[in-house]
Amino acid sequence: MTVFDAIIIGTGQAGPALARRLAGTGMQVAIVERGRFGGTCVNTGCTPTKTLVASAYAAHLARRGADYGFSAGEITVDMKRVKARKDNVAGASTRGVERSLKKLANCRVYEGHARFVSPREVQVGDEVLRAERIFLNVGARAAVPEIPGLSEIDYLTNSSMMAVDFLPPHLLILGGSYIGLEFGQMYRRFGSKVTIVELGPRLIGREDADVSDAIAGFLGREGIDLRFNAKCLGVRKDGGEIVMSVDCEGTTEIRGSHLLIATGRRPNTDDLGLDRAGVAQDKRGYITVDDELRTSVPGIWALGDCNGRGAFTHTSWNDFEIVAANLLDGDHRRVSDRIQAYALYTDPPLGRAGMTEAEVRKSGRRVLIGKIAMEDVSRAAEKGETEGFMKILVDADTKQILGAAFLGTSGDEAIHCILDAMYAKASYTVLQRAMHIHPTVAEFIPTILEDLTPLAA
Ligand SMILES: Cc1cc2nc3c(=O)[nH]c(=O)nc-3n(C[C@H](O)[C@H](O)[C@H](O)COP(=O)(O)OP(=O)(O)OC[C@H]3O[C@@H](n4cnc5c(N)ncnc54)[C@H](O)[C@@H]3O)c2cc1C
Repeated sequence: MTVFDAIIIGTGQAGPALARRLAGTGMQVAIVERGRFGGTCVNTGCTPTKTLVASAYAAHLARRGADYGFSAGEITVDMKRVKARKDNVAGASTRGVERSLKKLANCRVYEGHARFVSPREVQVGDEVLRAERIFLNVGARAAVPEIPGLSEIDYLTNSSMMAVDFLPPHLLILGGSYIGLEFGQMYRRFGSKVTIVELGPRLIGREDADVSDAIAGFLGREGIDLRFNAKCLGVRKDGGEIVMSVDCEGTTEIRGSHLLIATGRRPNTDDLGLDRAGVAQDKRGYITVDDELRTSVPGIWALGDCNGRGAFTHTSWNDFEIVAANLLDGDHRRVSDRIQAYALYTDPPLGRAGMTEAEVRKSGRRVLIGKIAMEDVSRAAEKGETEGFMKILVDADTKQILGAAFLGTSGDEAIHCILDAMYAKASYTVLQRAMHIHPTVAEFIPTILEDLTPLAA
C-alpha cells in the first residue's frame, strides 16, 4: 500500500488544479485518470465542440459572402480536415494537462480505473493507495434512454461524434438542448440534412419561451427540421436507414442516416465502489454534497459534474476554488454563493446569467424588465448578425439585477457585464451610468436599463 496526503480521482476541470494547489503546499498527492487527461471538456465536450462550431461558422459565413459583398464560390466542407483541426486543438489541451501533472513536484500520476476499497483506500490496478483526504472529480457521460430498438442499432453520443470524419447525409438528433442544438447547427452548416427530435413542447425547456422560440426560428431558417412533443419513441433499421417513430399511433416516422443521442448526462459513479466507502448518492447516482462539497463521509469531497451541483466546466472549476479556499486559505466559500451562468454555443450564442423570467415570476418579487431586439443593436447590424434579443430582469425594490438572457452575436461575452454587476450586488443604475465602448453589443446594456418597465403579471 502507498500512503499519500491526498488522492484525487479524475483529471477533469477540478482535479488537476486541486492537485497543483495541494502539491504546492508540500502534500504528497496521487491523481488517478482512467481515460484521456483533461476529461470531458477537453476531449469530448467544450474544446472539440467549440472548435467544430468555429469551422461550421466559417463555412456558413463563406456561404453568406454575397451579404457582405464577395463570392467564395461553392462551399464544400472537407470533414477529414475539420476533424483534424479539432483533434489538433483538443490534442494540445489534453497533452498539456498530462504533461503538467506528470512533471508536478509532490504528485504521482496513476493511469487506471480507481475504486474505493474502504473510506480511506482506493485501488488502481494491483495497487492500493491510502490517504486521509480523497477528492472525487469523476465527471459524467452521455445518458442513453431506454428506447425500444435502440440497442439493435448503431447510434452516436457526444463521445463517438468525436471520431466522425465524414458527412452524415441525414443526422437525426434526439434531444433539443445544448448538446443537440450545437451539433445540429454545426452539421447543418457542414452540409448534412438535420432533424432534431425533442420530447418536450419546445427547445431548451429550462429557458424562457421567447428564448426557445427565437432559437427555433433561426435554426428553422437554416433548414433544420424541428420536431416537438415526441412520444412513444422507437427506432429500427430499414436497409441503410434509421427509422424513428415519434408518436404513439406509429403514424409519424422520421428517416435518417445516423442518430445522435443527446438526452442528458449521467454521473460516472456506478463503478467507483462508493458503497465500500459509505458515500451517499441521490437516486440518479449523483454524489450528495454539502455547501462546501463535502460528501457524507468526512475526508471525502466530490467536485464537478459528479455532484449534481453544476454541469459545466466553470462550475467544476468553481468547485475547485471552493474546496481549495476552505481547506487551504481559511476563506469560507460556498456553492450557494455562486450565480447560475452558462452559454449555449449556437450562432448566435445565448449567454445566460441568474434567473429566467419564469423563475422571477415564481419568486413573487416586484420586477422590472428591459428587452431589445438585436436588429436594433448597431454592432449586430454592422456584422450582419441580427438574430435574437437581449433581456434583463431587475428587482424593483433592491434595484439589483436578477437575471439576463443575451441571445445574440457576442451574447456569450457581453453577459459578463451583467454577471459581474450581480456578484458586486450593485444597483442596476451603476451599469446604466457606465460609459461602454462603441460600437459593441455591451454598449446597449445601459440603453436597455434606461427603458425598464414593470413585468406584467
Ligand atoms: C458535447 C459537450 C459540450 C460541452 N460544452 C461545454 C461548454 O461549452 N462549456 C461548459 O462550461 N461546459 C460544457 N460541457 C460540460 C463540461 O464538459 C463538463 O461540465 C466538464 O467537463 C465537467 O468536468 P468534471 O470536472 O466534472 O469532469 P470530467 O471532465 O468529466 O472528467 C472526469 C474524469 O474522470 C475520469 N474518471 C471517471 N471515473 C474514474 C475512475 N473511476 N477512475 C479514474 N478516472 C476516472 C474520466 O476519465 C474523466 O477524465 C460540455 C459537455 C459536452 C458533453
